[in-house]
Amino acid sequence: MELLKNCPSCNSIEFKTNFTGCDYFLSKEEFTIMECIDCGLRFTNPRPAFDDIIKYYNSTEYISHDTSKKGLVTWLYKAARNFMLRKKFSIVSNYSKGKRILDIGCGTAEFLNFCKKHGFEAFGVELNEKPREAGKKNYGLDIREKTPDFQNENFKFDCITLWHVLEHIHNLSELVNSIKELLKPDGVLIIALPNSSSWDAVHYKKYWAAYDLPRHLYHFNKNSFRKFAGNHQLKIVKILPQVLDSFYISLLSEKYMGGTQNLIKAGFKGAISNLMAGKHESGHSSLIYILFPEIS
Ligand SMILES: [Zn+2]
Repeated sequence: MELLKNCPSCNSIEFKTNFTGCDYFLSKEEFTIMECIDCGLRFTNPRPAFDDIIKYYNSTEYISHDTSKKGLVTWLYKAARNFMLRKKFSIVSNYSKGKRILDIGCGTAEFLNFCKKHGFEAFGVELNEKPREAGKKNYGLDIREKTPDFQNENFKFDCITLWHVLEHIHNLSELVNSIKELLKPDGVLIIALPNSSSWDAVHYKKYWAAYDLPRHLYHFNKNSFRKFAGNHQLKIVKILPQVLDSFYISLLSEKYMGGTQNLIKAGFKGAISNLMAGKHESGHSSLIYILFPEIS
């Protein structure tokens, strides 16, 4: 385990314990979330070191949902995945000024393949070998293990996306600096993150599935992400909701709380979360931040 002495966002040494949660998904071990007094970032501390965290991903279900299973949940999952592919692509098309995209943490590269089919020059980064090789083999894409692999060849991108990836990265500053080098001056950065101040997060408390301890190292909300972006000279131009995530997260949270997947309850609570997000500044269960580098 690795104990952080400084806030991973603002470097402050002042933080307090927020609460102790549990890895309901896999190990059932307990982990503590701390909150920075200065920037408000909540982060898992202590956390498994980079070389040890792999064992907490040791489940086929985590890497990709098993779509060979039958049943309503799998059907809903597939429908939601197709909806999300289209939604993500429409956001990229809306904000990207050119057609060269890099998806960091691209998994098996379904999203990149969708972009490629719609006229984009698509590239990926994926740390895990199995999905990386699958993406390369299935779609003929250029997918590298790390972002510096592209930096070394002086690649520049119009758009860089991280769909629920940043919260898994040990060295945040290193990654953001790398991204800024890889972006064209007018390039757009798109980051999707769970929102730990959403209605469903507050409702489910420690059972909220998007804490996903210890795999999620940071638990951003709008305010702490604004500060993080500011610290890295990135300007947020828009925050968009990921409306389907509240249903998926509520479904998992219900399971963690009661041991069963309660579709009706989860559907109801997911809907309330979206409804409340429309009325309050705290926002939806998951948020998509659209950012541009600040020109100095
Ligand atoms: Zn901080």
